[in-house]
Amino acid sequence: MTKIPHRLILTEDQMPKQWYNLRADMKEQPDPLLNPATLQPIKTEELYPIFCKELARQETDCETRYFDIPEPVLDIYKTYRPSPLCRAYHLEKYLDTPAHIYYKFEGSNTSGSHKLNSAVAQAYYAKEQGLKSLTTETGAGQWGTALAEACSYFGLHLDVFMVKGSYNQKPYRKAVMQTFGANVVASPSDTTRVGRAILANDPETTGSLGCAISEAIEKATTTPDCRYVLGSVLNQVLLHQSIIGLECKKAMEIIGEYPDIVIGCAGGGSNLGGLIAPFMQDKLLGHANPHFIAVEPASCPSLTRGRYAYDFCDTGKVTPLARMYTLGSGFIPSANHAGGLRYHGMSPILSKLYHDGYLDEARSVEQTKVFEAATLFARLETILPAPESSHAIRGAIDEAIRCRESGEKKVILFGLTGTGYFDMTAYTSYLEHTMSDYIPTDADLQPGFDSLPNIG
Ligand SMILES: *Cc1c(COP(=O)(O)O)cnc(C)c1O
Repeated sequence: MTKIPHRLILTEDQMPKQWYNLRADMKEQPDPLLNPATLQPIKTEELYPIFCKELARQETDCETRYFDIPEPVLDIYKTYRPSPLCRAYHLEKYLDTPAHIYYKFEGSNTSGSHKLNSAVAQAYYAKEQGLKSLTTETGAGQWGTALAEACSYFGLHLDVFMVKGSYNQKPYRKAVMQTFGANVVASPSDTTRVGRAILANDPETTGSLGCAISEAIEKATTTPDCRYVLGSVLNQVLLHQSIIGLECKKAMEIIGEYPDIVIGCAGGGSNLGGLIAPFMQDKLLGHANPHFIAVEPASCPSLTRGRYAYDFCDTGKVTPLARMYTLGSGFIPSANHAGGLRYHGMSPILSKLYHDGYLDEARSVEQTKVFEAATLFARLETILPAPESSHAIRGAIDEAIRCRESGEKKVILFGLTGTGYFDMTAYTSYLEHTMSDYIPTDADLQPGFDSLPNIG
């Protein structure tokens, strides 16, 4: 066999021209979004006040297998895609494992993450519909940055509600978004009704993603020609992120490999859903049987300890209800949690696949273990990984060690979703041994479960 290169980058011509809609091959569909007022399944038109029309259509379409990627979206993709598929030779050697470890690196764009893949698509459809502005929330800041890039390209105004804890911890993230012309507001803020209510209740709160979502939606629905966009969780976002998996599968075909294990970190589920999409298709159609692993923080354990139930997607309880693994929309991870992936729920598609056993396994890991993996990876592979991505690195290292012990020569693929340059406060606390782990007790989780809407 010819030697497999350290980095394989497809040519522009080999880049996929369509996104893949995993729902088209699922035997059972995720439960539909419900209108919280009527508890009836949402009709596509009911989503028009929140999402632009084409995205509402993508959100509710369970049948169309492939969607053409619009030409202007492909044009921007080509400025930073195809992204490299890398072989972690140095890590393999260090671990003395017979496993082959591959990672798909999505961090080589200014947002520093895979989020640009969906931001570009969402901004494009908004522009096409003649909208003037968008609103969104951002936690760690990658999504806000990605959307700021996309909005500046298409000439749309953007308001970003940034979780206050991150806003204070990551001033340079804010500056990057502002450089791309976005207006960045710390959430909860006094610029929305829901923000003022949350502040009145808890003036010292450092905010949460769910709360920032509520504010962004209020702003969008009270501003003319404005819509709200979300960077994860939704079906449309998983659709756009399928570009990751599609490129991966093609690159692996070229080098004659196929993954036995596919690992992704799981926050709202978009990178994992995108990475596994074409491999999950193989599993659903009975063509192959890769083992899928989701890795999440022990301090925000939605898949491993959450309930599979209908819940709101935001703290303010203004969104449609989605059936997903959730910790309850009021859940906020403990204050010492530094590693991102702090959303209370999980993509309904991934939740359904996990519930039905197609997404084989979910693991939760403590953050000191995550940063240990991050630091080792940085030193060996020369990329400074995002804390979020490092959950997947942890999973891959643990699997590679298992292979060393069993002698199995498995092919491991993981998603390296981004870079961690804005997370140096967290890295520093790891290096100075001041980082601690906190695993919520059942009693800590109970209030979140008690807040779940009571739906049959
Ligand atoms: C947002 C983000 C994640 C988690 O989001 P998912 O929707 O679960 O993929 C992971 N890694 C990076 C670098 C991110 O920015």
